[in-house]
Amino acid sequence: MTPTETLLLDRLTAGRDHLANLASAAHEERLADLLRRVDGAIGALETGRWGTCCVCRQPLAPDQLAQDPLLQVCLECLTPEARRALERDLETAGRVQRALLPAPFTRCGGWEVAHLWEPKGAVSGDHVDFIRPLRPGDPLHLLLGDVAGKGVAASLLQAHLHALFRALAPAGQPLPDLLAQANGLFAQATLTTSYATLAALRLASDGEAELANAGHTQPLLADAQGVRPVAGGGLPLGLFPDSVFPRQDLAFRPGQTLLLYTDGWTEGTKDEEEFGVGRAAAALGQSFHLPLPELLAACRAALDRFLEGAPRQDDLTLVAVRWTGEA
Ligand SMILES: [Zn+2]
Repeated sequence: MTPTETLLLDRLTAGRDHLANLASAAHEERLADLLRRVDGAIGALETGRWGTCCVCRQPLAPDQLAQDPLLQVCLECLTPEARRALERDLETAGRVQRALLPAPFTRCGGWEVAHLWEPKGAVSGDHVDFIRPLRPGDPLHLLLGDVAGKGVAASLLQAHLHALFRALAPAGQPLPDLLAQANGLFAQATLTTSYATLAALRLASDGEAELANAGHTQPLLADAQGVRPVAGGGLPLGLFPDSVFPRQDLAFRPGQTLLLYTDGWTEGTKDEEEFGVGRAAAALGQSFHLPLPELLAACRAALDRFLEGAPRQDDLTLVAVRWTGEA
């Protein structure tokens, strides 16, 4: 047994005893079913069958196994009924996740903020949120994150990030402290292999802004003079409990627009060639003067033109923020 498997066996055995107690008390059919699946996984670990499909004996996909260590049947061997149940679950999860999204376009003080959120499948590992101040005059928080991995596991961690920042941001601590606190909690609550990149902005009511970047793509700042990346930042959230997150101060001039994006935009690939930051910056340069929802649509369309129908490989989220100067 590998060290990971030994660790998993310990955790499953402990969880199994807990479940057995619950199930006998409540006679819950679902709990009993879960108990059968845990027993199955423990048996498979003990006999060296864990990680292979019990129907066709082929290895299970590692990413699916990482999401669900109780998995015993590959997708191809699922019954049509089980497959439909899985699809229904995914659709519901997608609806739950959509309900967490902020409005696509928001005005707050002299700021305009817009986003475009497109999961590749039913759910997304991209995290976008605008957190309005409790008191007028306090800063607005804007967050864009990208959880490592894909699918349901990534979407669960996205929901976790959503709750963390909703709970922590209104206290109004400096941005590096906010990220440090969120990082510590995220690292504690997730597997050692889980992490998320994140860019956080605090927008003050006078056009001043703070930016802290936890390993996320470099935002692009656009105005009539051109488009330039805003460099700098720290490590992703969740990797090390004591990471530090440097802060950068930005003073927006009226009309200046900052674009945050997940790598689903710049890393869109056709014939092994990436869309890339160069094309992304060019698309923004041509559209920075447009109203924000149109700007985002134009940036998205530039990727589509590049892909020429080739499928997108990742979730994609764009967020644009503009200082109007009319506080
Ligand atoms: Zn199979």
